[in-house]
Amino acid sequence: MADLYEMLGVAREASADEIKKAYRKIARELHPDVNPDPAVQDKFKDVTAAYEVLSDPQKRQQYDMGGQAFGGFGASGGGQGFGGFSDIMDAFFGGGGNRGPRARMRQGQDALIRVQVTLAEACFGTERELTIENAVVCPTCTGSGCAKGTSPTMCQVCKGRGETQQIQKSFLGQVMTSRACGTCSGFGTVIQEPCRECAGEGRVRARQNIPVKIPAGVETGNRMQLAGRGEVGAGGGPAGDLYVEIVEEEHEFLVRDGDTLHMEVEISFAAAALGTKITVDTLDGQSEIAIKAGTQTGSTVALKGHGMTRLRSNSRGDLIVHIVVMTPTKLSREQEKLLKDFAKSRGEVVGDSNTKGKNQSFLGKFRDSFGR
Ligand SMILES: [Zn+2]
Ligand SMILES: [Zn+2]
Repeated sequence: MADLYEMLGVAREASADEIKKAYRKIARELHPDVNPDPAVQDKFKDVTAAYEVLSDPQKRQQYDMGGQAFGGFGASGGGQGFGGFSDIMDAFFGGGGNRGPRARMRQGQDALIRVQVTLAEACFGTERELTIENAVVCPTCTGSGCAKGTSPTMCQVCKGRGETQQIQKSFLGQVMTSRACGTCSGFGTVIQEPCRECAGEGRVRARQNIPVKIPAGVETGNRMQLAGRGEVGAGGGPAGDLYVEIVEEEHEFLVRDGDTLHMEVEISFAAAALGTKITVDTLDGQSEIAIKAGTQTGSTVALKGHGMTRLRSNSRGDLIVHIVVMTPTKLSREQEKLLKDFAKSRGEVVGDSNTKGKNQSFLGKFRDSFGR
């Protein structure tokens, strides 16, 4: 068992006043209202237990003499003694304040729904009707929670105050503590005949259709806030907000990077060498682009203004077309001959990967020179 004086950080000869001050200081730091961590609360209970002993002259003397101080403490309620603990602390620090009856009407929660949009919808904006399961005001009692023709009556136990008071014995002597009235749950009023549809909650769950306008230029993660379209609060309280989060679907061949779009287009090596015009599909329909003679694989052509719309702006980014030059894998006899003639005209030896010619690799020459 830890030393009680050490727990409070006071000397063995500390005065009652010093002990009280030390405890107040620690309690302020460890109070559950300040620090709800369970480990801290355990420490708080230990420190309070130590204080209970050392603040009682009789128990302190007993403890100083090596007696079973905690035995005496345990007898006065033990671990259970902390039930009214925050009440004691409230009395100690003058906390708690004037609680009064709780309002039945509570602010509703915000709600979040994710919406999938295509890349085109993200670019040009769209309108959707979302169907969501939501808490709405009970249509039968319009939020009061009472059966038709009835209304809440004053709680007879707390006389409408929402709290009851008790005299409690504590280490400070007798203290008046108050807690939420158990009969009316602190509301100060009682619903004698609850509405059958909502069981007195004042709200029910229902499917709602909510039209949403999705602006041009949105992207995954963007959230739109629809004020007051979230869940209605208990007792028919004001609704929270509805957040609509955008999830953009992957496009078949367009890849987005902010307001820039990228796509790949394959062209034949002949087209790359001679130049051509090709037609590509974009979000705006088909566009023609010019491939210059001598185009290399990996080169790009920009289609200005064919990218994504910038949010809250009418301007648009570019569509970058990446050119991939394809090497043919199958050739007819005639094509093969044409290509061989082409190569011959450039002085290249082609057509047989085993040919030892002037086109052979450096490694091949190296091997030859050693006769291998
Ligand atoms: Zn109702
Ligand atoms: Zn009551």
